[in-house]
Amino acid sequence: MTSRIVILGGGTGGTLTANRLRRLYGADEAAITVVDQDDRHVYQPGLLFVPFGLAHTDDIVRPRARQLHEGIEFIESAIDHVDIEAGEVRLGNGVTLGYDVLVVATGARLVPEETEGLLGPAWMDSVFTFYTPEGAAALGAALATFDRGRLVVNVVDMPIKCPVAPLEFCFLADWYFTERGIRDRVQITYATPLDGAFTKPIAAAQLGGMLNARGIEIVTEFNTGEVVPGGRLTGYDGREVQFDLAVVIPLHGGATYVGRSPGLGDELDFVPTDEHTLQSKAASNIFVIGDAANVPASKAGSVTHFEGETLVDNVRRFLTGEPLEAGFDGHANCFIETGFHKALLIDFNYDTEPVPGHYPSPVGLPLLKESRLNHLGKLLFQSVYWHGLLPGRDLPGLGSNMPTAGKHLPVPEKD
Ligand SMILES: Cc1cc2nc3c(=O)[nH]c(=O)nc-3n(C[C@H](O)[C@H](O)[C@H](O)COP(=O)(O)OP(=O)(O)OC[C@H]3O[C@@H](n4cnc5c(N)ncnc54)[C@H](O)[C@@H]3O)c2cc1C
Repeated sequence: MTSRIVILGGGTGGTLTANRLRRLYGADEAAITVVDQDDRHVYQPGLLFVPFGLAHTDDIVRPRARQLHEGIEFIESAIDHVDIEAGEVRLGNGVTLGYDVLVVATGARLVPEETEGLLGPAWMDSVFTFYTPEGAAALGAALATFDRGRLVVNVVDMPIKCPVAPLEFCFLADWYFTERGIRDRVQITYATPLDGAFTKPIAAAQLGGMLNARGIEIVTEFNTGEVVPGGRLTGYDGREVQFDLAVVIPLHGGATYVGRSPGLGDELDFVPTDEHTLQSKAASNIFVIGDAANVPASKAGSVTHFEGETLVDNVRRFLTGEPLEAGFDGHANCFIETGFHKALLIDFNYDTEPVPGHYPSPVGLPLLKESRLNHLGKLLFQSVYWHGLLPGRDLPGLGSNMPTAGKHLPVPEKD
């Protein structure tokens, strides 16, 4: 019997899942369908470079269907809702798709409208985001004419995609204004809801020290309540941060159809998911990959990639009636661009925070340390993304689980 596998979302997770499944199953064993609302696959890590003129939006967008192996059906349509009871997805174009297995890969959505004043008259004038191609390009034009004043980078609330991207933006801004010879005329402030530069203590201390060393002010535990015309962010606690140019990372939620699908999502429209098997809590035949899941891992492409192996194996196990494998360990790794042609690398999982050492083995890339090698790694990653990660290939020497060889792990305290 041919299994019907429907994948919602044709971004990082949906594409690599479809390609891995296609390799696993012949056309007579599984009919694989991918649904996405548009035909523009954006390499999102590239958005960071657009405002600084280091990339152009045309270089980071490709058609979706071209990333999918032969024999995978691609439907371009919005999703209206999932009917879990009936095992059906209703699309915006009126078509209904029945499924034996559903994979939710619809990522995270920006919800700037949730912050008072953010979409007011200053939006795309003196307030921008680089989290969309349009926003990144418009911010690039604004930065090019910005030659003095206060630049504020503000994360409204967590969770966000790639929690290190706003920090990278600060470091690149420091480099960019230095290159232009006007760094002393620009004050850079990072306003974050966290109590430090990052969520995990060792990396937070290291990154906080780097912000300090570059003269970037950090305002912590700042929960943005309102963006006030004239250049002011107001926090819920009454604190204010003044700006001439603001780069805001808006609130994130899951896709809106999740909220229209009874029993599928939580209050933010993310999908409650087992953090190790990646099976949804809503139904045994629904699996979740990437930013759409509510698992306590970073919302990152690397996480999505590492999840792929477990998810596809568990779809196979589900279809053959075998017990699922609790295989995903929360593995994340991120290059953190720090400007001046250098980058830092962090590697961690649910249980182990980023620590110094090397990745993926004692002779690999330096961890939690700035190096040119890491910067080259970050640049090379775009090619790895299109040609290795999306096709669903296992990358040689880079397993899905977090490696411990080469890491300087803290010695556990004795009782
Ligand atoms: C600025 C920026 C920098 C980043 N840098 C890095 C980095 O350096 N390293 C890293 O690992 N990660 C990075 N990321 C994060 C990474 O891009 C995401 O975590 C990854 O793409 C998640 O994959 P996904 O499949 O869950 O979601 P996505 O790739 O976003 O795909 C979701 C898909 O679902 C579709 N969709 C949503 N709703 C609907 C609907 N209602 N109907 C139909 N289709 C729908 C969307 O069109 C989209 O194609 C960055 C992200 C940003 C924004």
